[in-house]
Amino acid sequence: MPHSIPMGRRSLHDLTYLALEGEIVAAGHSMAHTRGLWRALYRDLADELSGRSELPPPLRRWVDEGLGENGRFFADAPTVAADIPSSDGLTRKFLLRLADGQTIETVLMGYPGRFTACVSTQAGCAMGCVFCATGQMGFVRHLRPGEIVAQVLHVQRALQAAGETGLRNLVLMGMGEPLHNYDAVMAALEIITDPRGLGLAPSRVTISTVGVAPAILRLAAEERPYGLAVSLHDATEAGRSALVPASRRWPLEELLAACRAYGRQTGRRIFFEWTLITDRNDSPAKALELAEALSGIDAHVNLIPLNPTQGFAGQAADPSAATAFQRVLRAAGIPSTIRQRRGIDVAAGCGQLRAEKTARKSGSAPLASKFTEGEAFQERSDPQSSPG
Ligand code: SAH
Ligand code: SF4
Repeated sequence: MPHSIPMGRRSLHDLTYLALEGEIVAAGHSMAHTRGLWRALYRDLADELSGRSELPPPLRRWVDEGLGENGRFFADAPTVAADIPSSDGLTRKFLLRLADGQTIETVLMGYPGRFTACVSTQAGCAMGCVFCATGQMGFVRHLRPGEIVAQVLHVQRALQAAGETGLRNLVLMGMGEPLHNYDAVMAALEIITDPRGLGLAPSRVTISTVGVAPAILRLAAEERPYGLAVSLHDATEAGRSALVPASRRWPLEELLAACRAYGRQTGRRIFFEWTLITDRNDSPAKALELAEALSGIDAHVNLIPLNPTQGFAGQAADPSAATAFQRVLRAAGIPSTIRQRRGIDVAAGCGQLRAEKTARKSGSAPLASKFTEGEAFQERSDPQSSPG
């Protein structure tokens, strides 16, 4: 049975540097001690805080008491429910179990020196995109900041254990809609990019959103230093609403207006995600609609062949359709990349591993994929595009 979190306790991993400092000062200790504890948590990646000799004895006592039986704190320490490497050796997928038994997906991909972590922001998702395994399972709950931070700590430790360094990029493209859990995500990113600890460069963090228009404007107004990716999938309201029900709440026109304002205010290029589905949104005519919708926006389009899921009958677009689509964008002066379908054999699509584990447990057939690694798309950047 998973243990639950004692009532009224806070996770140490929920606390930003400032908040931790506040706790330490409120307990009567010098604020200068914050740095040492922060370092233990986020530089040394300590999973056991007790008895750390580099911390001054009064702070050690405070930590021991705080984390003790009647303490005010706990530490986020998800357990590993599954750890699956892909056959291409470039992707490793973790299913992490949280204190209340919920499972979330965290993916590590890339090459030595430039790894990317893909983390979840919710258990399940309320947005209901029809092709998405997470959307198909519905919303369970928001993740706390510490539960997002703990995913990055987990991949950092995994890299360390493998003798690797170099977690460079972070994408919020796992389970859940980051801008539906705005405050927790912003607190987590503040912790993850704090230069005194994990120190990921804010410019190497990408928030991927289904298109919560007001929250996109809020990112710009608050001058959040992160990259933005918007999941578009169709450039007509009717076509998009059929794939992305959230488009009825934040219609395409409002979304594109928010993107224009965001681009103007931040000066940043926006990435647009387009999951290619055969005979649905993979035609040259669809590409032309997209090019028109993006006019006046500094955009880069990521074309991602669909990962088939149990709850959606659509097929992944043909490589030739993807290339033709890209050709139309190129003619319109829009840079694009056809993304590699990395780690298809580990169900690397969002939410698929949890869905597959649940299906197996309940006795139904595991997800079938007609694709093998050999057929996987290669990453092909359009020659005129800048690197993504
Ligand atoms: N909720 C956010 C981030 C998580 S989903 C968002 O929607 O952007 C991350 C990306 O994976 C999105 O672009 C989403 O459309 C895409 N995606 C989800 N399921 C997929 C599937 N089965 N095949 C291909 N891409 C998928
Ligand atoms: Fe949620 Fe993103 Fe999946 Fe849509 S694609 S259901 S927004 S996780």
